[in-house]
Amino acid sequence: MNIILMGLPGAGKGTQAAHIVQELQIPHISTGDMFRHAVAEQTALGLEAKSYMDQGQLVPDRVTIGIVRERLAKDDCASGFLLDGFPRTVPQAEALDELLQQLDRELNHVIYIEVTKEKLLERLTGRRICRKCGASYHMVFRPPAVEGVCDECGGELYQRDDDRSETMNKRLQINLKSTQELIQYYEPTGKLTRIDGEQQIEQVTKSILSRIRRS
Ligand SMILES: [Zn+2]
Repeated sequence: MNIILMGLPGAGKGTQAAHIVQELQIPHISTGDMFRHAVAEQTALGLEAKSYMDQGQLVPDRVTIGIVRERLAKDDCASGFLLDGFPRTVPQAEALDELLQQLDRELNHVIYIEVTKEKLLERLTGRRICRKCGASYHMVFRPPAVEGVCDECGGELYQRDDDRSETMNKRLQINLKSTQELIQYYEPTGKLTRIDGEQQIEQVTKSILSRIRRS
């Protein structure tokens, strides 16, 4: 089963990926892990990627796709894979199609975990940290017993700058554009499934697995 998992930051992609790969016994291939391994193994492409990252530059598609190619050719991908964080753009999606064709494999599913922007912002900006002991809370998922006060030490809870609406809004906006373009790319293939990501976590998992098993 060859799957791409898509979702904006805060959609719960990581949690769902973990459930799916466990259930289907396929490797979870995230872009970050792939780069880390290639760098650690000092492959030619890994070293090339590192030189870009060290300079704070974007790794060019040619290098990224080469790393994906090496990863998908490994034995553990024989019965399938779950790609997470790749492709990120339409040119990458086109390159992946070409690559899969060369490997004589076919993409089975593109799963998009859909959550409204308002809901994502609520999730992404809900984090609060204790000034005194550093304990972490979430206004929706893990609220303190008393608002604004740490359960552990009674310290004051605050919101980090990174977690503020404006920062998150910008981050979402960038991702939203490329995600919409990818959806338009995959929609006509009939492989795209939109999953309601605002359901309970277990229900999201069930929806994804039932879609995959129906095929
Ligand atoms: Zn505290």
